[in-house]
Amino acid sequence: MTLLELDGVHAHYGPSHILRGVSMSIDEGEVVTLLGRNGAGKTTTVRSIAGTEPPEIRSGSVRFDGSDITDWPADDIAMGGIGVVPEGRRLFTELTVEENLELSTITRSWWNTVRRRGLGGGESTMEIGELYDLFPRLEERKAQQAGTLSGGEQQMLSIARTLRLPDLDLLLLDEPTEGLAPQIVTAVGDSIEEIADQGLTVLLIEQNVHEALRIADRGYVLDQGDIVYQGTTEELENEDLDEYLVV
Ligand code: ATP
Repeated sequence: MTLLELDGVHAHYGPSHILRGVSMSIDEGEVVTLLGRNGAGKTTTVRSIAGTEPPEIRSGSVRFDGSDITDWPADDIAMGGIGVVPEGRRLFTELTVEENLELSTITRSWWNTVRRRGLGGGESTMEIGELYDLFPRLEERKAQQAGTLSGGEQQMLSIARTLRLPDLDLLLLDEPTEGLAPQIVTAVGDSIEEIADQGLTVLLIEQNVHEALRIADRGYVLDQGDIVYQGTTEELENEDLDEYLVV
């Protein structure tokens, strides 16, 4: 079943026309990667889906789980089951690891949305204990201030926080391996694979082609706001895409 579908999305920031007709789809249970150089429009694609710092979508649509979510506010999209791990992590740096995990699902805007929509408590998809099973390093460091974690540990915490969202169906990861040392890239990648193995659908935005293709089932290549190639992991590996990618 198709979980997410972008159909001819044109996204603008003021006078800048950033996405120029992006079409892509993700089936339930798939791990799909969106590759592209700096400035290709990857983050704008994430924002077009999730409604966070949203560009203006002047034509085209975003459909998720049967609903047209193109103009939905970000909180409603999160409630609907799309979680975003943003570029640059955005943790509560003064708080401990565990406090970050506790706070993730109980922000004021979150509960306002729950109340406005007359929804119940909202069960967390994953308990903190389950997250520690997935990221043992976070358990070792649960009392440590998030701002003092290494880059890789911060990335793990950022992913773990998002997994606390209730009723999560689709995880959007915006360049999770950016700026990490090679062995940490692999550790973060392994965690993403494990999350996917538990049945979550994943859209992995990456410049790190090697790591993305290790994890993904198939992928799209974005260049100047346009999808220029799509294929299975094997096809992407064999195609000469150097002009669009950092290899
Ligand atoms: P990177 O890998 O560097 O994060 P990206 O592929 O994610 O790149 P985007 O961040 O989507 O690219 O940016 C695509 C283009 O849109 C860039 O030229 C950028 O300057 C522009 N852009 C992004 N956000 C805004 C904004 N809020 N206002 C105006 N232009 C923007």
